[in-house]
Amino acid sequence: MIYKMLLPRYKYPKAFCTDEEIMMAEEIKRFVDNEVMPKRHDLEGGWHRDEKKALETLHELYAKCHELGLTKSNLPEEYGGLGLSPVVRQMINEELARGDIGLATMVGKIHWIVSFMLAAKRDDLLKEFAPYITGDEVWTACVAITEPHGGANIEDPAFEFKTIRTRIKSDGDEWVINGHKIWPGPGGPAERFKSKWLKGHLGYWTIVTEDPARGVEAAAMVYVPPDAEGVRFSSPFEKCGFCWTDENVEIWFNNVRIPKKYRIDTKPGEGANIIKGYVIGLGRLAGAARLTGLAQACLEIALDWTGGREIAGQPVRERSAFAMILAEMARMIEVSRQYYLSVTWQVMHPDIYGPPWSSEMIAKFSAARSFAADTAEFCVNKAMELMGSYGYAYEQHVEKYYRDFKIVKMWLGGAQRDRLDIAQGLYGPFKWAGIEEWEKKQGL
Ligand SMILES: Cc1cc2nc3c(=O)[nH]c(=O)nc-3n(C[C@H](O)[C@H](O)[C@H](O)COP(=O)(O)OP(=O)(O)OC[C@H]3O[C@@H](n4cnc5c(N)ncnc54)[C@H](O)[C@@H]3O)c2cc1C
Repeated sequence: MIYKMLLPRYKYPKAFCTDEEIMMAEEIKRFVDNEVMPKRHDLEGGWHRDEKKALETLHELYAKCHELGLTKSNLPEEYGGLGLSPVVRQMINEELARGDIGLATMVGKIHWIVSFMLAAKRDDLLKEFAPYITGDEVWTACVAITEPHGGANIEDPAFEFKTIRTRIKSDGDEWVINGHKIWPGPGGPAERFKSKWLKGHLGYWTIVTEDPARGVEAAAMVYVPPDAEGVRFSSPFEKCGFCWTDENVEIWFNNVRIPKKYRIDTKPGEGANIIKGYVIGLGRLAGAARLTGLAQACLEIALDWTGGREIAGQPVRERSAFAMILAEMARMIEVSRQYYLSVTWQVMHPDIYGPPWSSEMIAKFSAARSFAADTAEFCVNKAMELMGSYGYAYEQHVEKYYRDFKIVKMWLGGAQRDRLDIAQGLYGPFKWAGIEEWEKKQGL
């Protein structure tokens, strides 16, 4: 059934986007309805988790997203991209996640890496990578932040990046990298990313430091080609969701040498700003849009099912107890969307609201992600409850959304860090109790 309030034309207000942009969202919705929805189960290889089927489906759907131009949406036209507004990036996230949040994340990885190179104004690197993003061949990419001793602390501005342990050292015209990352995805040996549809893996945009003691000033981002000597991968983690859509691995860097040009930031403090504003901040904002799309998918499933299920000859959704829950789901989704769109619009007006690395904007990104995560949690949970055992059954799809939403709430620092970063933006910056003693003990 069609629900007018959930259609792109009614849900994306013209306060934030143009008619043409809404038409793009409509086209992405059509693609998702026709191509992604029927293959949602196949993205996990069906009930029996057939790996070959899962990877083939993922690569084929990802290649179709590439063909539609979704991966190159934020690459400026001068590099052969579409140069579309950040609002369109968010519409892509929301619409794709309605079908599969893992597929949306894989597409979003390309937006993410482009945003870092744009932030650092690296015309040379944009020119180098543009042919991979705009050509007929299809490539994926990865961003490596988390380390074994902790992810959330790297994402905590109060630690000033002093907890990063993956280090770079200058040696002539190269940087030498040593360290250990955990969980980045999609990652792994190059052969894993070659198929009929996928040409390969572009590489690893990696958060590093020149010296933890120098904190913000020494934090940096480097690009590591996938076949660089000294890079070693674990096999992928087995997880609750995102089974093949984001294959997460450990990566060891052992005296990996890269040319100096592959350090993305070029000015003192720029690395820290890219990590705060573009890796963490815009990463959380993209998560908000994806979680909203996933929540809408669950609402649609619950609406259809409660419209067809009858008690005493009447659809259950016409009983007030059911209607109240469905309305509550719609209420939270509507507020999530309007808020993440408003914050996206604020990103487009840094002259008024400040740059994306300001503590105030990070507070807003965190509010958007955490509210959308609460919305998704409420919607997957209630969709399942409203549908009873049918909601719990594999064939109704809610169980997959139920397994998938959780990590989007937890990654990039998670729901707790979101709240703490809101406090930092509201009345900070300040150091949490204990950090100064820890720094002294570490000799930082
Ligand atoms: C499917 C998937 C995809 C991922 N993708 C990537 C990726 O592409 N790149 C990458 O680098 N990493 C990735 N990750 C890793 C993820 O971002 C981290 O696991 C996450 O940031 C949390 O870090 P942690 O697991 O080390 O938990 P910890 O940092 O140990 O935190 C554990 C818990 O404590 C909470 N917490 C932490 N600090 C505080 C505090 N000060 N006060 C209160 N609570 C706190 C956290 O919110 C969390 O709930 C991915 C993980 C998965 C499972």
